[in-house]
Amino acid sequence: MADIRFKAATLQYEGNPRPTINNLDLHIQDGEFLALVGPSGSGKSTTLRMVAGLEKLSKGEIYIGNNETSTLAPSKRDVAMVFQSYALYPHMTVAENMAFALKMQKVNKEEQRKRVAEASRLLDLDQYLDRYPKALSGGQRQRVAMGRAIVRDPQVFLMDEPLSNLDAKLRVSTRAEISQLQRRLGTTMMYVTHDQTEAMTMADRIAVLEGGVMQQVGTPEQLYLHPANTFVATFIGSPSMNMVTGTIETNEIAIGHIRLPLPPLTSEPSNRDVIVGMRPENFELTSETDADTAATVRFIENFGADKYVHIEIEGLVDLGDFIVRVPNTASLQPGETVFTKVDPSALHIFDSETQRRIVI
Ligand code: ADP
Repeated sequence: MADIRFKAATLQYEGNPRPTINNLDLHIQDGEFLALVGPSGSGKSTTLRMVAGLEKLSKGEIYIGNNETSTLAPSKRDVAMVFQSYALYPHMTVAENMAFALKMQKVNKEEQRKRVAEASRLLDLDQYLDRYPKALSGGQRQRVAMGRAIVRDPQVFLMDEPLSNLDAKLRVSTRAEISQLQRRLGTTMMYVTHDQTEAMTMADRIAVLEGGVMQQVGTPEQLYLHPANTFVATFIGSPSMNMVTGTIETNEIAIGHIRLPLPPLTSEPSNRDVIVGMRPENFELTSETDADTAATVRFIENFGADKYVHIEIEGLVDLGDFIVRVPNTASLQPGETVFTKVDPSALHIFDSETQRRIVI
């Protein structure tokens, strides 16, 4: 097993005006599960391919354990990659698919058999070893792809959206299986996904990429509770954080006619205008006297355990909808007037120019 260290790793494709990966510094601990998230095109796959040795860095270094990788061929890096398309060999059985890389490495037959048996037991594939891929479900094929990685007993797993081809229910059960398996094996994991829920539920830490630039690295809790900038604030969390512009007054923040107490700031904003973020669960519906403001219910999404209520704040219609989470016991109708109050200790405040967090 090994840690992975990126030092100012940069990759600029020929003909591209900007680097696809720009000065990436990141240390993934030995045995850690790191999820790499970001929107499509942010450079997640490229980062993984750089570790695998499928892309050459323009600048900087990547270490796997003590090995600086620039002169290390992909086959010598001791990493195993699992892709979105499982790319199983259709003419080979499950057992043959799983043993293929070992056969290429000229591992002896007995050892091959032993490792395939171990991996298939871990993955609950024992009874399918003689089947061909076409006779397997999507979830089983995905497990065979995992099995091919596991039998190699690599220092590092690199997984690129491995659950995208599964239906929603299977995705949820498989993500739990993968994270339990990784913890049991203790193999360092870099896991690429565009799905922040997947990252939040599976990873020890999450790294957020945008435009090839690392925005923040932290535990799921750190990213959710203390997003470093507006990009991370809106990317992590579903539904997204409500964001509005506000103005700092002496001890208050003004959002239109609403006045909220100003929480302690870590640094002075560059001007009085700030961006204020509020998560849907930080609101409550309350009485008129207790409320920050009145609002009109636009529509309601019922999620069973709770409801997301889209509201338009009176006098602030041009701010657009706010989303407020309420228990399913709240009985509300579109068009109804409600009174809302936000928890002032849960405000996220960002500098309007730098977009960086300035609240503790
Ligand atoms: P993600 O995995 O986050 O969706 P990618 O790593 O696939 O993003 O791509 C990042 C950016 O690099 C994209 O803008 C993509 O068009 C560009 N890119 C990827 N591969 C190449 C290539 N071989 N040549 C030029 N540009 C590329």
